[in-house]
Amino acid sequence: MLIGIPKEIKNNEYRIGMTPAGVRELVSHGHQVMVQRDGGTAIGLLNEQYTAAGATLIDTAAGIFKSADMIIKVKEPQPDECKMLRPGQLLFTYLHLAPDPEQTRLLIASDAIAIAYETVTDPQGGLPLLAPMSEVAGRMSIQAGAHALEKAQGGMGILLGGVPGVAPAKVTVIGGGVVGINAARMAMGLGADVTILDRSIPRLKTLDEQYGPQLKTLYSSVETIEHEVAHADLVIGAVLIPGAAAPKLVTREMLKTMKNGAVLVDVAIDQGGCFETSHATTHEEPTYEIDGVIHYCVANMPGGVARTSTFALTNATLPFALALADKGYQQALQDDPHLMNGLNVHRGNITCKAVAQALNYDY
Ligand code: NAD
Repeated sequence: MLIGIPKEIKNNEYRIGMTPAGVRELVSHGHQVMVQRDGGTAIGLLNEQYTAAGATLIDTAAGIFKSADMIIKVKEPQPDECKMLRPGQLLFTYLHLAPDPEQTRLLIASDAIAIAYETVTDPQGGLPLLAPMSEVAGRMSIQAGAHALEKAQGGMGILLGGVPGVAPAKVTVIGGGVVGINAARMAMGLGADVTILDRSIPRLKTLDEQYGPQLKTLYSSVETIEHEVAHADLVIGAVLIPGAAAPKLVTREMLKTMKNGAVLVDVAIDQGGCFETSHATTHEEPTYEIDGVIHYCVANMPGGVARTSTFALTNATLPFALALADKGYQQALQDDPHLMNGLNVHRGNITCKAVAQALNYDY
């Protein structure tokens, strides 16, 4: 199969759809790979690494879209990219169609086949191509929170791990899923005093068994959240109710009980945020202050560590990309119901129930 990897064109997006190591795997399976020149240069993935892996460098995105059988990307195709898609061409990338009627219309009009990373499932009921970005965001939330706690950043001037003779900071993580546990692990690694809240008892059990007394677990209720937030130095918002906007678990009233210079990191901001006072921010201006509490609410946290995120994404997508390339998309989807769940648009039709329902299309 002829596979094309264009340079991402969305504002401030430095990730690329495949690392040179991923390209090498595809080539070793007998496929031809085209990579857009300088597609990974911004994150140190150089043209010569791609050619050494067996790729052909192409100067323009148009040159790639014109001939590739499958396009592998990171972000949803922008309007100019949608217009370059050809009938029957395969697109494998994040799509997030439900809130995006314009992109959906363009993908339908393209007559292409679009498989969305975010709806591919695994046998455990997880989302294996979304998980790596949650891992990145979870780990990054502690790094971002620790930085915001510094005095010069508006924080109270506290070191997460303390030092011998000085108590560590108190970190509260609301939501014990992929983001939450990665945040908790980082915070524990730095020596902080960490509590994690979830409203799933099986989840709390698993966390307790995995981490023992080093990680305190609490059932999530208004009462426990109120208490924890009032005593925390750093609060991480990491809840998800699939398909729904994040619940507002920390209210403006609760902010008044918090320490001056405490920090809230709302990772769930991409679902509207789980703190009442959250609004989305950018890597250029990541924080703002309300009632003496610093808020960090960057909606695309993994973009800040684009190199790590690119490697993590390739690790997760590569087995699926190989299946699609080796077998052809029809056989690959037939063989794997979890990959089939990723099919969102097929030659003019919406094939994902949630997207069809959200945008009033026939399913
Ligand atoms: P997940 O499904 O793995 O975990 C969510 C957890 O929240 C579950 O364990 C669930 O039981 C728990 N939960 C639900 N309601 C709760 C409540 N009221 N109190 C406490 N816990 C509750 O999801 P995830 O992958 O960890 O993602 C968490 C959020 O982070 C999502 O909104 C996701 O979109 C977002 N995210 C944001 C970024 C970013 O850049 N900002 C990056 C990746 C993920």
